[in-house]
Amino acid sequence: MRKIEELKFDNTYRKLPEEFYHLVKPTPLKNPHLVCFNSDAGSLIDLDPNEAKKPDFIEYFSGNKLIPGSDPLAMYYTGHQFGVYNPDIGDGRAILLGEVRNSVDEKWDIHLKGSGRTRYSRIFDGRAVLRSTIREYLCSEAIHALGIPTTRALCIIGSDEKVERETTETGAMMLRMAETHVRFGSFEAFHYTDRPHYVKLLTDYVIEQNFPALFKEENKYYMLLEEAVNRTAKLIAKWQSVGFTHGVMNTDNMSISGITIDYGPYGFMEEYEPEYTPNHSDHFGRYSFQNQPAIALWNLNKLAQALGSIIPRERAQDALEGFKNIYSQCFVELMSKKLGFKTARAEDVGLIKRLLDIMVTEKVDYTIFFRKLSNLISDNADLNHDAVCMFEDKSGIEDWAASYKRRLRAENSDDIERKRGMNLVNPKYILRNYLAENAIRKAVNEADYSEINLLHKILQDPFSEQSEFEEYAGPSPDWGRNLAISCSS
Ligand code: AMP
Ligand code: MG
Repeated sequence: MRKIEELKFDNTYRKLPEEFYHLVKPTPLKNPHLVCFNSDAGSLIDLDPNEAKKPDFIEYFSGNKLIPGSDPLAMYYTGHQFGVYNPDIGDGRAILLGEVRNSVDEKWDIHLKGSGRTRYSRIFDGRAVLRSTIREYLCSEAIHALGIPTTRALCIIGSDEKVERETTETGAMMLRMAETHVRFGSFEAFHYTDRPHYVKLLTDYVIEQNFPALFKEENKYYMLLEEAVNRTAKLIAKWQSVGFTHGVMNTDNMSISGITIDYGPYGFMEEYEPEYTPNHSDHFGRYSFQNQPAIALWNLNKLAQALGSIIPRERAQDALEGFKNIYSQCFVELMSKKLGFKTARAEDVGLIKRLLDIMVTEKVDYTIFFRKLSNLISDNADLNHDAVCMFEDKSGIEDWAASYKRRLRAENSDDIERKRGMNLVNPKYILRNYLAENAIRKAVNEADYSEINLLHKILQDPFSEQSEFEEYAGPSPDWGRNLAISCSS
């Protein structure tokens, strides 16, 4: 375990040409203080958790002091936002402090969000508010615990600095970590400014740093695109399986390494509703729950176009065509696991579809239903079961449950074993919006950060029964059902 000053930096992005970034230091926050620290994320860079107790920790992660060896820069990228190309973005309020190499030779970007204006800030203030950093901190760690690739969150630093949003709030910084922050939009930036040599340079860089297995391949550019298709398809299938809706799937928020990045107005679907759109400014539901697979493919098309100078169009098309199959296969596998099947059978796709169709009309809580379903007894005709009772109109679900039981018996499913397996993939605890809101209100109104830490702890272990926290597993109370999530952050 290391002290902050002993972290080993290997700042590879900094060695790229200066058109790739803006060298800029964080702008310090006024009266910074520690809000929360995640020792799990710290261990990824060998950071001694006791470091978070030192006053200097706050100085380093509020932009007041530079970590020795760091070499801060804002990354350049552009992107398609809500379908329209925006040539004018980039890290407008985040700064890559540097890349840290750990004792097992993994490299982690350490990226400070809310760190002040950069060349890419346009008319905005370069800041993040405490509310939005808490949302990102909690959700990225919850998504990680669900086994879904994501950026990680190390800490939040709060401050007295006033930041104007719909109301006056206070500024905060969050340190997040990832194997890379290169996005689809990083490639688009050079493609649309007619600099194919930089598209190639960036691609070579990403392959060398993040896809070393492709380095010596003759078709490495094609294989990178294929890998991006593969990872993105699997990522989205995982989101769908737990009801996660990202909310702003612009190409600048799509990671080349296939991880969840940039948590804004996201949401976990509660009642099953394919049109669920957590971002209230997304009036046409472009980024609704059900559209995520199609949008991911649309975004991959934009990535392929940006790589057009190094991958011929027809070849790129081959890679893109893989998306549908990879996505469907992964989704069906995940849903089959949620249903507790041991083997794959031809009828499963129909069974999954029938269940989801009934859930839509009945507005049943997606997470709670699957968790309860694990208790169903497969070899009796009793349909008066917890999970079935969640439906007001029983006709559809009773029919479905009878087919489900037949399906389980056909593979000699053992109820106890099935329940164990189902509870490993159907979370009991998800980050319902009202839970995040409770933690935010306590933090913002009372400077009480205990609820952030408690929620983080519960969500770190989403598949276990934590009997003392039963109330965190229920549906949202009425006040928390339709909370508007501000997309200003
Ligand atoms: P996002 O929707 O958070 O992914 O942001 C899209 C773009 O807007 C990125 O280039 C951000 O850096 C930039 N941006 C968002 N909020 C701010 C802000 N408060 N100050 C400067 N840039 C911002
Ligand atoms: Mg973004």
